[in-house]
Amino acid sequence: MPEDCLFCRIVSGSIPATKVHEDAETLAFLDIHPQARTHVLVIPKAHVGSVLDLPAGSPVMARLTEVACRLAREGKIAESGFRLAVNTGTDGGQTVGHLHLHLLGGRRMTWPPG
Ligand code: AMP
Ligand code: ZN
Repeated sequence: MPEDCLFCRIVSGSIPATKVHEDAETLAFLDIHPQARTHVLVIPKAHVGSVLDLPAGSPVMARLTEVACRLAREGKIAESGFRLAVNTGTDGGQTVGHLHLHLLGGRRMTWPPG
């Protein structure tokens, strides 16, 4: 576990977070600066820097997506719609270097994003 990784520290419990889902491989918690009524981050527990670090055929994104869709259904935002986003690298707006899937919902999204 990279000691200086914020999300690894959330996984280990040394930084608190409001968890909404946890299983052996995945953790989901509320974003500290929510950009929509529902704003959850879904992450692999094992450190992965970004999608670029996933090997071909990795099941990680499928797992994150499955958890996000389950949370969207449970939170009653699946019917009206929601957004899944993976910011990657500097131009992609990634600010935390541990792969995370944003689940955003509860308001009408705009396109293109900023
Ligand atoms: P990104 O900008 O795509 O890398 O997303 C990182 C997200 O992590 C941002 O939406 C932040 O608001 C969120 N964030 C940063 N620190 C924390 C924290 N301690 N707990 C929960 N979310 C956080
Ligand atoms: Zn990490």
